[in-house]
Amino acid sequence: MNPLKEALKIKDQIIAWRRDFHMHPELGYEEERTSKIVEEHLKEWGYRTKRVGTGIIADIGKEGKTVALRADMDALPVQEENDVPYKSRVPGKMHACGHDAHTAMLLGASKIIAEHKEELPNKVRLIFQPAEEGGNGALKMIEDGALKGVDAIFGLHVWMELPSGIVGIREGPFMAGVGRFDIEIEGKGGHGASPHETIDPVPIAAQVILAFQTIISRNLNPLESGVVSVGTIKAGEAFNVIPERVYMNGTYRFFTQETKKLIEKRIEEVLKGIVIANNASYKLKIEEVAPPTINDSSMASLTKRVAQKLGLKVEEVPKSMGSEDFSFYLQKVPGAFIALGIRNEEKRIIYPHHHPKFNVDEEVLPLGTALEVGLAFEIV
Ligand SMILES: [Zn+2]
Ligand SMILES: [Zn+2]
Repeated sequence: MNPLKEALKIKDQIIAWRRDFHMHPELGYEEERTSKIVEEHLKEWGYRTKRVGTGIIADIGKEGKTVALRADMDALPVQEENDVPYKSRVPGKMHACGHDAHTAMLLGASKIIAEHKEELPNKVRLIFQPAEEGGNGALKMIEDGALKGVDAIFGLHVWMELPSGIVGIREGPFMAGVGRFDIEIEGKGGHGASPHETIDPVPIAAQVILAFQTIISRNLNPLESGVVSVGTIKAGEAFNVIPERVYMNGTYRFFTQETKKLIEKRIEEVLKGIVIANNASYKLKIEEVAPPTINDSSMASLTKRVAQKLGLKVEEVPKSMGSEDFSFYLQKVPGAFIALGIRNEEKRIIYPHHHPKFNVDEEVLPLGTALEVGLAFEIV
């Protein structure tokens, strides 16, 4: 069986699925239609399926080693600006990260695997998960047994930073861990003309934000990487009133536990020091949202071998400060998160992930399907 040949045979079908999902985007934990279509096909092809909310776990093959393949199915609250026949039909919702392509590629792989199940040397588990975009759908799938008995796991993500058709593989840390902080600074409000009778939280917040810029530049080892970004600031209602409180929140990114701990410690120390110096008070909530995505070296090199055997072009993909909830699977089971290039200047497929003009070069879809099939048959 040649996975690439098989995938190319059903290329039109994979593209049709992708376009159908693209026209009907569903946000995290609302993937009713998408999961229904996926489940109906899987049942028809002989998979043993299990529902986890809008997620699906499906098995096929002999007892023994189990390789899991994962696709995410959720869309984003983005208004599509592409002028294509398969444009999103749902106002304000769009597959702007390519999860429609992930679902279609894995559906294609599922079909091919089922057609060749007699030749399958092991068991294959499919994980179609909800809510990757900030919903940590992966955690829900794991809680409901998605990784039970699994020996290796692979997930594909279409990748705008790589030229179309290139398989991007990286050993070790690939995508960053992500955390979130929420801050409330409480001062003492009053008249804008009498600042001396108040404790103005606005300049305190300004000092805090500026001081946060030194956590990465002055506290973190320059050879390590990290991010601290304040995303929102809210304070006051009137131009001549000093408000009582300032609220702000933001995100931090890291690749190691040491960096995570350092950033969390410095956020609190800097905030506390500045607030105390100004006779104000604060509340801080700080928490990890998802760990870094760290590929197992041997699984990454296995992926490389499989891709090259299929005749696909392989490159090392650079690390990204973006995050992925695939990291939760990789904390429990060895595996690899794999990038699949979709950038095509000629077709004007150049807009970044989450952009209203994001699109996928559909020529790569059978390549992703073939790689998934190849991996399913390779682990013995
Ligand atoms: Zn995304
Ligand atoms: Zn994504």
